[in-house]
Amino acid sequence: MTEAPLNLFNSLTRSVEPFVPVHAGEARVYTCGPTVYNYPHIGNMRAYVFADVLGRTLTHKGYDLTHIINITDVGHLTDDGDAGEDKMEKMAAEKAQSIWDIAQHYTQAYWADVKALNIRQPAKWSIATDYIEEMLEFAKSIADKHCYECETGLYFDVTTIEDYGRLARAVTEDGEGRIDAVEGKRNAADFAIWRKTPAGEKRQMEWDSPWGKGAPGWHLECSVMGEKLLGFPFDIHTGGIDHREIHHPNEIAQNQAFCGCGGLSDARNSGANIWMHNNFLVERSGKMSKSSGEFLRLQLLIDKGYHPLAYRTMCLQAHYRSELEFSWEGLQAALTRLKRMVMLVERLSDAAPGGSIEHPKFAPVLQKFDAAISDDLNTAIALTALEDALATKKVDVAIKRAVVEYMDEVLGLGLFDLARTDLRIRPKDAQMTEADIEDALVRRKAARADKDFATSDAIRDELMAQGVEMMDGDPLGWEWKLS
Ligand code: AMP
Ligand code: ZN
Repeated sequence: MTEAPLNLFNSLTRSVEPFVPVHAGEARVYTCGPTVYNYPHIGNMRAYVFADVLGRTLTHKGYDLTHIINITDVGHLTDDGDAGEDKMEKMAAEKAQSIWDIAQHYTQAYWADVKALNIRQPAKWSIATDYIEEMLEFAKSIADKHCYECETGLYFDVTTIEDYGRLARAVTEDGEGRIDAVEGKRNAADFAIWRKTPAGEKRQMEWDSPWGKGAPGWHLECSVMGEKLLGFPFDIHTGGIDHREIHHPNEIAQNQAFCGCGGLSDARNSGANIWMHNNFLVERSGKMSKSSGEFLRLQLLIDKGYHPLAYRTMCLQAHYRSELEFSWEGLQAALTRLKRMVMLVERLSDAAPGGSIEHPKFAPVLQKFDAAISDDLNTAIALTALEDALATKKVDVAIKRAVVEYMDEVLGLGLFDLARTDLRIRPKDAQMTEADIEDALVRRKAARADKDFATSDAIRDELMAQGVEMMDGDPLGWEWKLS
């Protein structure tokens, strides 16, 4: 099989570009991680499913991948501009807990979602507060030429570098509207790289600095961890599309200052060759907002009985650059699709894993798969290639298994670790046990065989009353579901 070159959409140049590694044979990727002041919602997790598919694709293409995801435990304000409070400080005050405990709790919760969604472990989870010294060094090295101090902190003057805001599309002109005014700033788009603790206040997280006690700005963290762990320029920087507007332009500005380099017509000056952004998962009723009480966490999906990988399937069905609308019907459809795949994979379980994929019958689907994933990670088409492979008839099961494993390595559904029964919808609060249901079903079958429809209907009604819905003749063989 001839492999297609990997092409990726670069938000900085706004074009699809071939991936050319900075260091031969390697791929170095930095992904902006979560701010651990609350549970992630499933939209946040879309960003990490996307970064995971990117990482898996780079591995598939033979690159030696170093993937860094950070954990933001300080510095992210309630507003992406410079107004508002530190999200971590605010939550800690609300819950009357220490920030360190809050960070610990929500980092663990995030990692649980990462695991449930088959997101691979990165080379390192970099924790922002572990890099305060390095942040101070970085800030000191750019302070004289690019920053100024005012009452609230040390600010970066965006007019001191070339091409500020190129990533964001038209930032500087309407900067006033977008970013809350902070007294003492020279330009609306200037941003804090160090925020001083206000006089007379004590923050839970604060450090000494040449500009007084305080905490680093959120943008500074990512610049510093990217540089320390991957070196400028590295290959790819990822984040959600909201980061294209403020966080990443500011990171880029700091990187340009740090490197003492020129404008962004040379993408390498930004600190990374390629900047990639996933579009949002949206939901009409506002359940995605973390302030809405019961918001859409992965655990909510699980509690309602959906396997978390149904959500991964849902993400893969859309291109990462398209907006994806969440609905329970959509999740149900993704679950059904996953179940169809798992049923076909179960038939391959007798074959030994890890066989050869070389077979003329599979050449077209392998070609289709590779072309799709190489075309800016077109997972929607890659998924259909995997289904085509599963549907291929009259072939050796060992080869079929190898082909499906090969594709699944990239898509990350872990199809060979799933069983049909794992995918049955089973809400957390369901009363009946599986054994009770199966037992009632045997009795109902027997009654039907005896043409005793009164009994069979009575059993069905009894099950219905317990929330178990019969699905007679379901083509997928799901005999019942809990609703
Ligand atoms: P945060 O914890 O707010 O920094 O967000 C973590 C990641 O989720 C960032 O990459 C965001 O850009 C991304 N993100 C936030 N909301 C959504 C959404 N609704 N859909 C997809 N990604 C999102
Ligand atoms: Zn970041």
